[in-house]
Amino acid sequence: NYVWRKGNLIERSNAEVSLEDRGYYFGDGVYEVVRLYNGICFQLEEHYKRFVRSTEEIDIPIPFDLLQFEDMINSLSEKNNVSDGYIYIQITRGEQERNHLYERGLDPVVTAFAKEAPIPFEKQKNGVALYALEDIRWLRCDIKTINLLGNVMAKRKAEDNACDEALQHRGTTVTEGSSTNIFIVKDGAVITHPANELILNGITRLFIQELAEKHQVPFLEKTFSVEEASNADEMFISSTTMEITPVVRIEGSFQADYSIGPVTKQLQEAFSEAVRPHQKS
Ligand code: PLP
Repeated sequence: NYVWRKGNLIERSNAEVSLEDRGYYFGDGVYEVVRLYNGICFQLEEHYKRFVRSTEEIDIPIPFDLLQFEDMINSLSEKNNVSDGYIYIQITRGEQERNHLYERGLDPVVTAFAKEAPIPFEKQKNGVALYALEDIRWLRCDIKTINLLGNVMAKRKAEDNACDEALQHRGTTVTEGSSTNIFIVKDGAVITHPANELILNGITRLFIQELAEKHQVPFLEKTFSVEEASNADEMFISSTTMEITPVVRIEGSFQADYSIGPVTKQLQEAFSEAVRPHQKS
């Protein structure tokens, strides 16, 4: 099992990080999760762009270009023999004696690992339950920071209530899940929260937008309320690891039931065809 640390592939058991890493003290860093289909990285450039954007937003200098990013991912997947799974990549600001004030010119710490991961076909077929709760996160959810306390608390709450994922709402506006984007379908149109500072602009979300446009499915980026969510015809979530997964039930601050509808199924099929072209779903 090999991991990436500061430019080298090393045995996981030999990988160490410093106690003075700002990631450890302050959650001062950002990350990416990239999926591999049959050894090939899905939407690599989009992930790199988002990674660069996140680092820029928090003033961490990115130590590599797209080719080096790709090379790191490929060497991790090859060395670990992972062809269907994901690569986790994180960068922290670097090591410094604990101080809120960060110094410029620190050496960023890049770590990454590869993991085999099955596609959650069962959930994609039967749907999942969401637990609705208030979105208590900060106002820069567009940055893919490793500082995920609000998200992990929401996820725990969902699991404690026998749900698979959270549905967060800020006041009455539905934002996103704990690690997924949320979509409703109303009168044939797909509606999802605009990609502003209140959600993470998912790479899967962007791909779904392309698919919808290709298949002439109306796709609207606009806010929707919990009430509109409860009256929706269909609901689904998306992420790198979940792809497109239908929602069949909501519990928590509001309740709803959905059946898995034609628009969700159409997008799921189009998604499968794009990433698994030789496999009939
Ligand atoms: N929203 C949040 C808060 C996330 O953490 C994630 C992924 O981890 C997503 C949405 C989905 O993003 P992507 O499709 O890039 O995996």
